[in-house]
Amino acid sequence: MKDVEDKRKSEARPSALEQAVMAADVTEDLRWVLDKLPDGVLFMDREWRITYANEMGRKISRLHPEDLNGPTHWELFPAAVGTEQEERYRRVMEQRVTEELEFFYPPFQVWIHLRAVPISGGMAVIFSDVTELHHAQDDAAKLTQQLQRVFEATSDGVAVLNREWRYTYLNRRAKEILERDGRELLDQNLWNMFPETVFEGSAYVENFYRTMNDGVATAFEAYYPAPLNGWFRLEAQPSPDGIVLFFRDITRSKQYEAELLAEKAETERQKAELEAVYRTAPVGLALFDAKEFRYLRVNDRQSEVVGVRPEKLLGMRIEDVVVAPAVPNLFRERVSKGETIRDMLYETELRTRPGEVRAFNVNYSPIMDEAGEVRAISAAVLEVTQLRKTEKALLQSEKLAAVGRLASSISHEINNPLEAVTNLLYLVQRVGGLPEEARSYLSLAQDELVRVSQIATQTLRFHRQANKPTHVTAAQLVDAVLNLFAGRLLNSGIHVEAGYSTAALILCFENDIRQVLNNLISNAMDAMRTGGRLFVRAHDAVDPETGVVGVRITVADTGTGMSSDTQRRLFEPFFTTKDLNGNGLGLWISRQIVDRHCGRLTFRSKQGEVLHGTVSALFLPCESTELQR
Ligand code: ADP
Ligand code: MG
Repeated sequence: MKDVEDKRKSEARPSALEQAVMAADVTEDLRWVLDKLPDGVLFMDREWRITYANEMGRKISRLHPEDLNGPTHWELFPAAVGTEQEERYRRVMEQRVTEELEFFYPPFQVWIHLRAVPISGGMAVIFSDVTELHHAQDDAAKLTQQLQRVFEATSDGVAVLNREWRYTYLNRRAKEILERDGRELLDQNLWNMFPETVFEGSAYVENFYRTMNDGVATAFEAYYPAPLNGWFRLEAQPSPDGIVLFFRDITRSKQYEAELLAEKAETERQKAELEAVYRTAPVGLALFDAKEFRYLRVNDRQSEVVGVRPEKLLGMRIEDVVVAPAVPNLFRERVSKGETIRDMLYETELRTRPGEVRAFNVNYSPIMDEAGEVRAISAAVLEVTQLRKTEKALLQSEKLAAVGRLASSISHEINNPLEAVTNLLYLVQRVGGLPEEARSYLSLAQDELVRVSQIATQTLRFHRQANKPTHVTAAQLVDAVLNLFAGRLLNSGIHVEAGYSTAALILCFENDIRQVLNNLISNAMDAMRTGGRLFVRAHDAVDPETGVVGVRITVADTGTGMSSDTQRRLFEPFFTTKDLNGNGLGLWISRQIVDRHCGRLTFRSKQGEVLHGTVSALFLPCESTELQR
């Protein structure tokens, strides 16, 4: 401050105005000019009385007309006494030098800048009110200070670079981040200090140079290796003397972002997994709204069970799907009131399959909101129709087995009296003198008796469970079955032709294979309700695929034949076209027996007007190595 004043003092050469004033010849014209001046002008005589004040002078100094040529300056401005102002004034008056100074005058709360020049008879003061200027300067200083304080406090790093890329300012945070390794950056060149930022395609170089040269703000994110080791978000703002950098360490938020992303991906994966499980679960799953019981969600199995595509099923009401009102009632009266239904067995018809009663194990549970109100109903449905049929079949086969056991015990019991009767008949035949007629009756009775005893032994054999495979011929296998059916075949008007061109021995579980043949022949009989012809043949054969040697037994009928749908499904368990007369298990079981013997069971069938009927072919290897129970 002192320097500046000294400088001003030395520069103080009297201006034209001052020269005029010094002449103290204040003419009217000059007064007029002086009143127009933006500066205040005062003249003082050697007794410190103010002899003249121009308009601005009067205004700034708050002078009234009576203040002129009367009281001294010191009386008018007592606060100036003893100040630097007085000291300088006196010097002007006494030493005839020009003085320039700026001071605060407390009574008026103003800053005054003035020049005091000696003139003949006293001195002149040219001055102006610089209070506002002072305030502005104060404000600017205050603002700078405030800004600096803000910069020091902010959690962002702030660094100022001049046009030579040298740091001219770093705030506290900038130092913390950039001077981690103990270096001092002030006055240092950015690119020298951080050589890792300089490389081909560097975002640092590209953005910072754009801001420096083109004066546009740039912003980017970048990773900085050691010594900083972190992610930063950088912003460069142009300033008149270079650029200002704002930067923030975003390593943690980057990590967090990455974690969040990974977490999201994991959640998505789990969701997809659950979705897949839901969709493909072997249990029918569905969600209904709690008011109208419409399907809101449904999985593949549920749509299969119901026989309606999932997209069509959505929005349908439960009544639109099941015929019986029991389920909707259950929903209305129990589940929608908050009750959970578990493992309930339901038999109902579906609208898609009328006339077919199907059994379901159902689980319904209400889904409640926080207020405890039922919002939806979730359903898990397991179709148990097959299971029920299996149960029934088991029951039936158990009954059959009991009948079988009974038959075998009857056969056993019959055998002894049969033998006795045979012997007795033989004896009767021997009796002499019998009429011819009686003799022929006797012979007929003997034939029938042979048949009875054959049936009895066969029934016995049929029932006997072997646990070791035995060697039998095709003829032995087939004849036993044909004998059993002889009566039924005759009654149905079916003409049987049997022919065997093989004597090969087949290693097999005799009873099982007889059961297969039994099935094939009874199916053939079922297909010929109104009579027909049955051809049973056996011959040596070779499996064309494996080259295995064996025997092929064919059973051909002139029955109804099978539709292509039946041919496709005939090995399915419970598939039958005979309603109550069939259980649809015959061929399913037969196939398993044949598979176990490493054999083959195939069908050809025709439903033509003239040519109709079915040929079933059973191939059995003579020796099957893998044969076991
Ligand atoms: P089931 O005899 O109890 O119906 P099977 O498994 O023995 O069961 O036979 C399944 C179905 O195959 C029969 O219902 C019938 O429709 C068809 N089928 C089998 N063999 C013949 C045949 N020889 N002629 C016509 N249809 C047959
Ligand atoms: Mg059958």
